[in-house]
Amino acid sequence: MNTPPQNRHRTAPVRVGHVVIGGDAPVVVQSMTNTDTADAIRTAAQVAELHRAGSELVRITVNTEEAAAAVPEIRARLEAMGLDVPLVGDFHFNGHRLLDKHPACAEALAKLRINPGNVGRGAKRDEQFARMIEFACRYDKAVRIGVNWGSLDQALLARLLDENAKSPAPKELEDVTREALIASALESAARAETLGLGHDRIVLSCKVSGVQELIRVYTDLAARCDYPLHLGLTEAGMGIKGIVASTAALAVLLQQGIGDTIRVSLTPEPGAPRTQEVLVAQEILQSLGLRSFVPGVVACPGCGRTSSDFFQVLARDVQNFLRARMPEWRTRHPGVENMTVAVMGCVVNGPGESKHANIGISLPGTGEVPVAPVYEDGEKTVTLKGEHIAHEFTALIEAYVERHYGRS
Ligand code: SF4
Repeated sequence: MNTPPQNRHRTAPVRVGHVVIGGDAPVVVQSMTNTDTADAIRTAAQVAELHRAGSELVRITVNTEEAAAAVPEIRARLEAMGLDVPLVGDFHFNGHRLLDKHPACAEALAKLRINPGNVGRGAKRDEQFARMIEFACRYDKAVRIGVNWGSLDQALLARLLDENAKSPAPKELEDVTREALIASALESAARAETLGLGHDRIVLSCKVSGVQELIRVYTDLAARCDYPLHLGLTEAGMGIKGIVASTAALAVLLQQGIGDTIRVSLTPEPGAPRTQEVLVAQEILQSLGLRSFVPGVVACPGCGRTSSDFFQVLARDVQNFLRARMPEWRTRHPGVENMTVAVMGCVVNGPGESKHANIGISLPGTGEVPVAPVYEDGEKTVTLKGEHIAHEFTALIEAYVERHYGRS
């Protein structure tokens, strides 16, 4: 019913620690910390939180001597927690100097993110880029050449604008800028290979903050290379706006088979958990049928037939229950992430939708007899009533999982 697209953009797989990006590997979920990397305790704790929420790679800023010096300790702390999550170092401006002084930092990372627009200016640019690639080669690290339109290589843009001005059929500025983003990624990747980095060690990204522009950039980029692509709408924003904009952009590209790893760049609400970006990324992939992470909850929106908020509370509690049980179920009951659970508000669509789910409950709407039939694999198995429906229903889900998903 939720069959994913089959037309995937063919890319050469890249190994990042124990994670594979591209080729036939599933689309990888990434996130990024917002702690001061120099604070190894807090950064390791946030990496652990993001990883436990489902982030398969976690990027950390490496911007100062103190941050570079802290990276091996962050790695050691994660290993002490039993977490083998690959770390990606995000370098700008001074990465060559930091890695020079702190080679243990390069060793502790699984991938280096290099922004070609922020490597250096003038004659220093090529030399500093070469130094970064040299470290990647020496320590056998993957590299993401991550172009961002907020820090686009100005020398390259000027060159393309110059060429465009001399062309008999000049293009619009928007088209030249898009070409500059793509050229920056492709030319940097070609140079990295000339310097000795393997083709199979390079991932590309070209992030912009507009949905339509992101789709155009990545569609062009995918047509011109077989490097795995990291997707993300940069500076997506906060709350609903950031979630919807990221989903709109990433869904169109993923549906075309473009994208090997994704990050949702949400600005967190003050006090909100950083893990929200991981859950949104997982939901995008799961909604498209590309991956399954947690059992899906099918819930109706409710309407004039639902007389209280009991139905909404139950839908929320069931969703939270499923997420909370996943860490244990994932190892004990493989396949459970493909389960669907229905929580419906009345008899209109309740029994029908519950029968389509693995297990579902149809609550009584206004004027209905106050009972809630439960369906398992399309058959009514029990009718719940009284004050403990929520507790009894989650117990039935637990028992269903035990019976239907074999122990690993
Ligand atoms: S299933 Fe019932 S309560 Fe839910 S939206 Fe449909 S009519 Fe309304």
